[in-house]
Amino acid sequence: MNNNTHECNYLPEGVFLESSKDEDPEFSWLLYIKREASESDLEENHYLENEGDPIWTTMLEVIFCPYCGEKLPGTEKINKKSYGKFSHIDSGSWSGKVF
Ligand SMILES: [Zn+2]
Repeated sequence: MNNNTHECNYLPEGVFLESSKDEDPEFSWLLYIKREASESDLEENHYLENEGDPIWTTMLEVIFCPYCGEKLPGTEKINKKSYGKFSHIDSGSWSGKVF
């Protein structure tokens, strides 16, 4: 764990928060929701190779941790008008799609 992650007792498994570097002009905190392959996923989906491979990942820009309500450090400088971007990566198929 580096300094750019949020330590939290309330995060469910598969969810974590990570910030960009402090000096990044587009500084942001991203909430990641990652669905990792289990053994039964590997049997059903032959595009997946290893247990723990991500099947899909969703990430979104946040200012507060939605689980404990803590304001994340360094977010004062964020321009909230252009904040809140999100994306979704589907890795559970051959092509791998980004939405
Ligand atoms: Zn938290």
